[in-house]
Amino acid sequence: MKRLAEVLGDWEAVIGLEVHTELTTLETKMFCNCKNTHDDPPNTNVCPVCLGMPGALPVPNRAAIQSIVMAGLATNCQIMRHSMFYRKHYFYPDMAKNFQTTQGPVAFCMHGRLDLEVSGGGAAERPAWEDVAGDGTTAIAREKDGSYVVPIRILRIHMEEDAAKMVHVGGEEGRITAATESLIDYNRCGTPLIELVTEPDLRTPEEARLFMEKLQQTFKTLGISDCSLENGSMRCDGNISLRRRGETRLGTKTEMKNINSFKSLHDALEYEICRQAEVLEEGGIIYQETRHWEPSRRRTVVMRVKETADDYRLFPDPDLAPFDLTDDFIEEAREKIPELPDAKRDRYMRDYGLKQADAAQLAGDPKVATFFEESLAGAPAKAVSTVANVMVNLAPSFDALAPAQVRGIASLLAEDAITFAQAREVLEAVNGTDADPESVVDERGMRQVTDAGALEPIVDEVLARCADQVQQYRDGNKKVVGYLVGQCMKASKGSGNPKLFNKLLAERLGA
Ligand code: ADP
Ligand code: MG
Ligand code: ZN
Repeated sequence: MKRLAEVLGDWEAVIGLEVHTELTTLETKMFCNCKNTHDDPPNTNVCPVCLGMPGALPVPNRAAIQSIVMAGLATNCQIMRHSMFYRKHYFYPDMAKNFQTTQGPVAFCMHGRLDLEVSGGGAAERPAWEDVAGDGTTAIAREKDGSYVVPIRILRIHMEEDAAKMVHVGGEEGRITAATESLIDYNRCGTPLIELVTEPDLRTPEEARLFMEKLQQTFKTLGISDCSLENGSMRCDGNISLRRRGETRLGTKTEMKNINSFKSLHDALEYEICRQAEVLEEGGIIYQETRHWEPSRRRTVVMRVKETADDYRLFPDPDLAPFDLTDDFIEEAREKIPELPDAKRDRYMRDYGLKQADAAQLAGDPKVATFFEESLAGAPAKAVSTVANVMVNLAPSFDALAPAQVRGIASLLAEDAITFAQAREVLEAVNGTDADPESVVDERGMRQVTDAGALEPIVDEVLARCADQVQQYRDGNKKVVGYLVGQCMKASKGSGNPKLFNKLLAERLGA
């Protein structure tokens, strides 16, 4: 198969995502008051409603509808005041009532949009000739480094309920093929689920990955879900088709399932783009089918072929009255929306002078952002950018640091009392304890000499001893100063501050 870059040079890839998110932070299920958790023993959080007993009546979960309205507002959707629940019929034991309650043509949230910032290697995936957004009219402006911002339209976000979890015993990789028995856990049945569907506006695997990441960050910040791809509380299907450059009609798409990590999403789409290109270039045709991504073998295989439209006999659920969302209800949801990652990132850049990538990294995950802000509280003014630096470059290697410890290490670094390498050692020592970095530095005698008076004699001694290097420096080889700093560090047995040595050397050498 050809490689992605080569394929995208000839073909335009058209990608749309369908993302299911379980509202894991809600107390109860969508239409009954069973506990909304999957950790309990199987079939313990069940009742006549979620078991689909005849005559049982559903009652919609107000908090769930508030959550979906928040999701819609955060993704620039129109909130539809009038909508209703529909029945989508199918026969399978994971839904005992034989239909899933979902929404019809009008969802609570319609026609939204998320802007994606694409940079680095990801930006290179989109060929330059393709700098048009998915709506076909907006031109994409590239920065000098190739990065760009692209709007991705969201078709809708609708409310539905999850099905029961099936466990197939004795089959291959937990699938039903060759299984000897199938078990059903109805704890998950009736769990509140929202489905977001994008327009086919994504053009590269990296854009799809970034979209998913941004959605995860947004929903986590809203606090409506834990958004775990591994545990399946956030699931994504990738739809993909190819068309020749300049062609405006959409090609036939395939749909990729079993994507449980950001990497899988990227790699499955990459594989599928290359596979479709090969089929098309050999004169074959793409069948509209559902394919399963096999991460271990890095390929997709056919699950089922769509022959005709599914006949779900979708009709309004007579047990659930149509909705008329009030302005008050929508405003209540709007007020609950915390500062979203983009706004937070911009504030960090503005208030703390952080670089965009660093600010985005800290603002993306609400836990990290809260930790960062707690670390900043009471930090000396000159340590603010150091706190950010520690958060981005050191803290991720440790799992049990406290904000005060990050603040402590940042202050020591900002005073040049220790080097970055020493900071790592200190964090290793305090991680998971309540020790403060300052005492560790003192106990271990790590504090750097930052008194110029004490370091000057060392500098003089080194300069006198290294006449050759001094000459090289004067002849224009400025890099040799690194060697001289090294000699100074050695002479001070590592206690001198390298930055200060650098400065003193530069002064002496007349730079
Ligand atoms: P289906 O009825 O097969 O579920 P939908 O029309 O509901 O298809 O679209 C599902 C997802 O597939 C949406 O995200 C949509 O943007 C995307 N999509 C639709 N047609 C195409 C296509 N030809 N190529 C790529 N993606 C597509
Ligand atoms: Mg669909
Ligand atoms: Zn129930």
